[in-house]
Amino acid sequence: MDQSKKRIAILGSTGSIGTQALEVIAAHPEFFQVEVLTAQNNAELLIAQAKVFSPNAVVISNEDAYHKVKEALIPLDIKVFSGENSLASIVEMDSIDLVLTALVGYSGLKPTLNAIEAGKNIALANKETLVVAGELITQLAKKKGVNIFPVDSEHSAIFQCLVGEFHNPIEKIILTASGGPFRGKKKNELKNVTKAQALKHPNWTMGAKVTIDSATLMNKGLEVIEAKWLFGLKTEQVDVVVHPQSIIHSLIQFEDGSIKAQLGLPDMRLPIQFALSYPERLKSDFPRFDFANFPALTFEKPDTETFRNLALAFEALGRGGNMPCVLNAANEVAVAEFLSDRIGFLEMSDVVEHCLAKMNYITNPTLEDYVSTDRETRIKAKELIN
Ligand code: MG
Repeated sequence: MDQSKKRIAILGSTGSIGTQALEVIAAHPEFFQVEVLTAQNNAELLIAQAKVFSPNAVVISNEDAYHKVKEALIPLDIKVFSGENSLASIVEMDSIDLVLTALVGYSGLKPTLNAIEAGKNIALANKETLVVAGELITQLAKKKGVNIFPVDSEHSAIFQCLVGEFHNPIEKIILTASGGPFRGKKKNELKNVTKAQALKHPNWTMGAKVTIDSATLMNKGLEVIEAKWLFGLKTEQVDVVVHPQSIIHSLIQFEDGSIKAQLGLPDMRLPIQFALSYPERLKSDFPRFDFANFPALTFEKPDTETFRNLALAFEALGRGGNMPCVLNAANEVAVAEFLSDRIGFLEMSDVVEHCLAKMNYITNPTLEDYVSTDRETRIKAKELIN
């Protein structure tokens, strides 16, 4: 084994971020080696990826698919595990240098905590982890001397602007939002929009959960919370501006009033690559931005009357405690129910608002409190829907 290569575990390798991360790794075999791949259900793609990248081990979370994966990979001397517990413990392997967490939603929490506990640096694509338990995660990372490198494009932008400036206090950060497919629409126009319409993001190609979250602006709300914890900010230091072209990926304002921004075409491979290669920048053949194609970059205030989720996220963050965890769990249920045509677009915010109003407040939640808050919020959200 070549010790000069960064050895990477990808949690969620068959999803949108996972597959793009493997593209980045395939383009730089001299820098990276895949140590672990994990998937929830997609056994076929996991097997195909393992055959190309020859990881030390793979995990298929769905136990029904275990035998299929095992039969395909054991002859290649690749270890195969299954189940949620294997997913949570595989990150502790000695041979891993960096864990890319590209799981969707709350499921990322335990594996991320275990990876930090084991002293692994994290490339964080699973924003929900920091939304649910930001304080717990960032304190543990500090204690263990672990770096959390953001993969989310906005947070990567801030991180890139901070290189060379880590000692300079931040006055505020400004997260850009595309506004999603329904920007400019009012409530009466959104009542009957379909999931097919909501899944058509104007600029980014992403997984279903984050695409729906982008359409409701919950994605930006979750990113506000994520930013607070990643960069150690107060709630009032995080601003959101709608920027429909998605060229400026976010901005940071320092105490002298100077603003730095990071620009580029919307392409997740770039923030993924920077998180994997930091502090180096690796050569890429991604399409380049051309000012001639974008004569106007525009900006507007987010419409939080129509897109209430963003206001609800700020409310949850302001209240603190377990409220961001409530927000996230209620939203995960709401998005799943919207995707199965059981509730309408606007009702997603009703579910979140209801749960924030009804759930018990816990000031300084422990991990157990987060687990029970998540479970009970899901029950409450489903009660409202049924
Ligand atoms: Mg983002």
